[in-house]
Amino acid sequence: MTTTATPIVFTNVRIFDGSGAPPFAGEVRVEANRITAVARDGAHVPHENARVIDGGSGVLMPGLTEAHAHLTWPTSVEQFVPGMSLPPEELTLTAARNARILLDHGFTSAYSAGALGKRIEPALKAMIDSGGMPGPRLVASSLEREPPNDGALDPGKVDEHGAGPANVAAFVRGCKDIGAQAVKFLISGESALKPGASQQLLYTEEELMAAGEAAREHGLWLTGHAHAAAAVKLGVKAGFRVLYHCTYADDEALDLLEAARGQVFVAPSIGIIQATLDATPPPHFDMTHMKQDAAEVLARQKALVPELRKRGVRLLPGGDYGFPFNPNGRNAWDLKLWVRHFGYTPAEALHAATALGGEIMGQSHELGRVQPGYLADLLLVEGDPTADVAILQNRHALKAIMKDGRFHKEPA
Ligand SMILES: [Zn+2]
Repeated sequence: MTTTATPIVFTNVRIFDGSGAPPFAGEVRVEANRITAVARDGAHVPHENARVIDGGSGVLMPGLTEAHAHLTWPTSVEQFVPGMSLPPEELTLTAARNARILLDHGFTSAYSAGALGKRIEPALKAMIDSGGMPGPRLVASSLEREPPNDGALDPGKVDEHGAGPANVAAFVRGCKDIGAQAVKFLISGESALKPGASQQLLYTEEELMAAGEAAREHGLWLTGHAHAAAAVKLGVKAGFRVLYHCTYADDEALDLLEAARGQVFVAPSIGIIQATLDATPPPHFDMTHMKQDAAEVLARQKALVPELRKRGVRLLPGGDYGFPFNPNGRNAWDLKLWVRHFGYTPAEALHAATALGGEIMGQSHELGRVQPGYLADLLLVEGDPTADVAILQNRHALKAIMKDGRFHKEPA
């Protein structure tokens, strides 16, 4: 890591500024942790006192945001873990390792979709923010909340979550106490894990409204796993800020999402779906049912995402990485899937992962764009990801990775 007491100028770069517009030739100046000047059309930013970095005609772009991060889901591109559980010590260290892996792959921000340990992410975030270890900016979460039930619907299962509005509100308050910002609820179940569960509501309206009230009181954000139409509707009604999947949203749910588009974000989380379809399981592991469910979800998402986009709902990539067949570190794969399945151009997918990424992180005024005043989270990419977004899947194409004005990866 290099401190940037010395200003940095990137020259000879094409700038993708996050807006979705094509890259333009220019220069960027960084002072401390912010972008202070952007020049285009042959103009220059001030070079005074700066370390000048020749970008070799590469593309300089904002760092990426993973909108559905699970840093405690154990498997990564560096470490295969058969299953979802690790002893607490290994789990904590693995989460730290995954944070570094996301940053290695160009993800300078991550919005957590829930964790396998109660306080791992708030602790990890504090370590990262204090400079103690490498990792993305993190909207930290705690355990995913599900009500008491008869079977494992989700790897985040815990037993002590009681039913009823008071218990739900207490859980939200508990998240505030431990320093989590996003509180994850499984509003509906998950058919990939238990057949038919995606159509089941796991909470009553009274419980979800109590969650919404408690979240507003404590300044927290609610995040919901919502496949069923009724789950989407209740999520919007209760004031959930992020809704994942939304697979079975009907017309009424779409109308509600559209009306709430200034507050809500939707992340369809297609990475895990495509990974399920692509996976070749070992002989003792039957994925037939999971694959059938994934095929249905994909077919629905292909219609849903363009429709939500047409209605102005903010949609973000992010795909539940961390499962054994869908490792942390492969997150940029989602961008390619958006181009393949949802009719996005690469530049549109990149806009969603950068500028909208800044919005979901709650920092729309200072994160996710290459603009003066914005935080210096920057990638220098060899090749043009707006021509072929798959380039970003190769971390060696990332010639430099800067977060908060410091190089996580120094340019050669
Ligand atoms: Zn998830």
